[in-house]
Amino acid sequence: MTIPIDEDLLKKVAYIIGGEEAVKVVMTLKDLGEATDDQILANNNIKLNEVRKILFKLYNYSIVQCDRHRDEQTGWFIFRWRLQPDQLIGFVKNQKKRIRKIIETRLNYEKNHDFYYCNNPNCDRITFEEAMELIFRCPNCGQPLKHFDNKKIVSALEERIEILDKDSK
Ligand SMILES: [Zn+2]
Repeated sequence: MTIPIDEDLLKKVAYIIGGEEAVKVVMTLKDLGEATDDQILANNNIKLNEVRKILFKLYNYSIVQCDRHRDEQTGWFIFRWRLQPDQLIGFVKNQKKRIRKIIETRLNYEKNHDFYYCNNPNCDRITFEEAMELIFRCPNCGQPLKHFDNKKIVSALEERIEILDKDSK
């Protein structure tokens, strides 16, 4: 059974979740349609523990689903894994939303504060309120704090948001 699936997207998402080895696992599932831990193991050069860890990670993101059966002879549970290709796009969308939120928070912080800086690469920028309290001396190196123009940072952040928005259909 083959699943109609965006292979590039599948690889990308698997890589984000579990690196190279997760890519191997999902490609095996894609080829086999459905597989147990052991079958996945037989098709890859990955340790069983790793295979299970990866599968549960993928499961947590709903990229795979599984059925559990009890083996009549051993009494152990056997998991059968399958891809859930319809969840891929949702995963990507959620990741983008999350990243966008982080950038947006940062952007608002940059826009809503006035920064002061000693221009020493080892020191941090300081907000106006803090700089006032420090009487415009860097608390780290003791140099005077000067106004820092964050226009470039703001426009770089805005650009990243624009790219994300353009990208998400
Ligand atoms: Zn400093």
